[in-house]
Amino acid sequence: MRGLRKPWPPADVSPEGQETRTWRQAEAEFLEGLGAAADRSAHARAAFDSMEKRKLRAVMYQEQGALCVYCERPVSEGAPLPRIDHWRPLSAEPQLALHWKNLYLSCATEETCDAHKHERPLKGDVTEADLPWPVDHAYERSVGFTSLGEVYVGGDAPLTDPQRRALVHALGAPHDDQVKNSGVLNLNHPKLVAARSAALDSERTRLERQYKGKTATRAEREARKTALLGEHPLQPFVSIRARWLDRSLGKAR
Ligand SMILES: [Zn+2]
Repeated sequence: MRGLRKPWPPADVSPEGQETRTWRQAEAEFLEGLGAAADRSAHARAAFDSMEKRKLRAVMYQEQGALCVYCERPVSEGAPLPRIDHWRPLSAEPQLALHWKNLYLSCATEETCDAHKHERPLKGDVTEADLPWPVDHAYERSVGFTSLGEVYVGGDAPLTDPQRRALVHALGAPHDDQVKNSGVLNLNHPKLVAARSAALDSERTRLERQYKGKTATRAEREARKTALLGEHPLQPFVSIRARWLDRSLGKAR
């Protein structure tokens, strides 16, 4: 998970053959009708469903470097199509159904990410509102990785207490015999941990090949990181690669 920029809502959200509407027009019309709606969630769902999702996704691939906002696996127009996630759920906050900062692309797997979250909203004393949008928080400062490929919330994460609890509850604990907390997003699913570990290996191999067995200097690693973060599409699991180049892989606990 990383911070993102979402500066350009789609210029057209209408299905083929219908009059062109910008995202901003569609959101203004939706909000105008929301006050009078008997069922606010149904009104929100209908407004969202009236949009051509392919046009939404086209903008979101650019914003997210064609990676799932949560697990950082690649997302594309191939089958199965990625999901459009309402970060703060449409059922809980219908007024944000068409708020562009509330929408993110997530991979299509049922095991993790948005599809896993769908059945398990945050409960107790925290809600999704305690997780800042990636446009408002640089998650790469809060989410750490172990050298095994596990993800955790960093001890020095710049978060309030409720935000920290919500993020811990969202990511899930590393899987082992003692801990059975898959979290809302299940980002320590064994397949994801193995894939992150493989991404680390490929990054290490790449650097070794480039510098022919010599250790890359701090400046060289920094240059590689800058180049990596400027790519489009981004490399899968770009955050753990960047952390490794920073030499800042840590311990989960
Ligand atoms: Zn994902």
